[in-house]
Amino acid sequence: MPIRFNTCPHCEERIIFDIEMEDINSSQYPAPVYIVCKSCNKLSTFYVDSLLRVSYKELGKKSGGIKRIDTK
Ligand SMILES: [Zn+2]
Repeated sequence: MPIRFNTCPHCEERIIFDIEMEDINSSQYPAPVYIVCKSCNKLSTFYVDSLLRVSYKELGKKSGGIKRIDTK
């Protein structure tokens, strides 16, 4: 399972999470997935491309995601 390293858009702390194809709705790219930061416990929407690489991220919960992923 691909491991992604990024930063939380709320608190800017480093975050690490696993993501797999079944975590996203692959009918649209970039596909939203919900990420919950371990440091601040806030949810963000990360948008990933077809290789599950993060394209961009937004604060809060945007529509279209199918799964919430906790960070390690
Ligand atoms: Zn955070």
